[in-house]
Amino acid sequence: MQNIVLFGPPGAGKGTQSQKLIEQYGYIHLSTGDLLRSQIALGTQLGQKAKELMDAGILVPDEVVIGMIASELTANPGAKGFIFDGFPRTVPQATALDALLADHSTSVKGMIALEVAHDVLVARLLNRGLTSGRPDDVNEVLIAKRVDEYNSKTKPVADYYKAQHKYTGIFGEGEVDDIFQQICRVIDGFGR
Ligand code: AMP
Repeated sequence: MQNIVLFGPPGAGKGTQSQKLIEQYGYIHLSTGDLLRSQIALGTQLGQKAKELMDAGILVPDEVVIGMIASELTANPGAKGFIFDGFPRTVPQATALDALLADHSTSVKGMIALEVAHDVLVARLLNRGLTSGRPDDVNEVLIAKRVDEYNSKTKPVADYYKAQHKYTGIFGEGEVDDIFQQICRVIDGFGR
């Protein structure tokens, strides 16, 4: 099973590239942001609690997202692979993912990180906010908070995978298709 962690700050292009990757490889896309937004749309208790934090640009507690990922892994036993998008976002989430995948006799093949400069991220998110309907995309203060969360809590996750020699960085500012081709080359290099 091919399990890929697609990594990068908010606005790096993880969602866009994930859509292309699931078409190309038939893997299952697991975005904790999407899973949380669907809980909000369903009006569940979990969704209501998560919404307050998400609207403030703050990470939700580790156990919430780890629980959602655990359910998705169990619900998709025959998957060819998973693209993890926006997860893991903390080191405890990364260690939990290793344990969950080990329970399913599999592991993370590699992390592919999209590297994008700060000013480009802010411009992209503000632009996305014009059409995404996402409350956390519309103002610069909130975007700055999300980038802060990324720098303080999420960046160390890259070191976690670097230490395991599973990290590949890709410059994420060019054309969507060029970036996609680079990601595919990395995935194809993982072998089956
Ligand atoms: P995203 O759609 O990935 O940008 O996530 C939107 C928001 O959902 C984030 O700003 C967090 O509040 C929350 N969120 C998504 N994934 C995670 C995660 N793995 N850990 C904690 N919070 C998350």
